[in-house]
Amino acid sequence: MINFHPDNALLAAYAADTLPLTMTLAVAIHVEFCPACAQRVAELERKLAENILLAAPVSPADELQFDDMLSYILQQPESAALQPMTEPTIEIQGQVFWLPRALRRLARQNWQQMGNIGRSRLLLDEQSTGRASLMYLSAGAAVPRHVHKGMELTLPISGAFRDEFGEYIPGDFILRDSQVTHQPQSKEGCLCFALLDAPVQFTQGLPRLLNNFGELLY
Ligand SMILES: [Zn+2]
Repeated sequence: MINFHPDNALLAAYAADTLPLTMTLAVAIHVEFCPACAQRVAELERKLAENILLAAPVSPADELQFDDMLSYILQQPESAALQPMTEPTIEIQGQVFWLPRALRRLARQNWQQMGNIGRSRLLLDEQSTGRASLMYLSAGAAVPRHVHKGMELTLPISGAFRDEFGEYIPGDFILRDSQVTHQPQSKEGCLCFALLDAPVQFTQGLPRLLNNFGELLY
């Protein structure tokens, strides 16, 4: 069962479409996995729509126009923009993984491999807060212990990983601030969506060497 969810403020900002693109993606992925948050977002969107309609003074003529507009919208075939443009799966190291809808249309960079950790940056058109990547921890991989200089969001898509604070499964929305030091590792392998707004700083091993690695992960 999913244990970690976006808080109410994040869900409300998502419903109102006021988040940076990177965080919008993260919440959209979580909502695909989590029926409870999907329902919460639907309620928030309905309330927002009601407020907008209530705020607008409606004359009988407006009401007529609104009905026309609504039936016009409902008659349209599903927009081509809403159709996934790429395959719903991705192949990594010979294994095929399902991808959430929110990620399918995004261009991806080639995988960069560092030991048993792989990263493919997601290329977003819009200048956005933070950098979004797909990360793949091979079975048995451990990320050296590190502290964040900024925010780190990790969202498993397939497989599971654990750190000092718990065990995480697909859909878990794990948002960490710069106070947390931890060492993620995965027994079975884990494909994650990762969002960082600053490079991580390693606290064990050979810090200088590893911090170059941290820049690469970012
Ligand atoms: Zn949720």
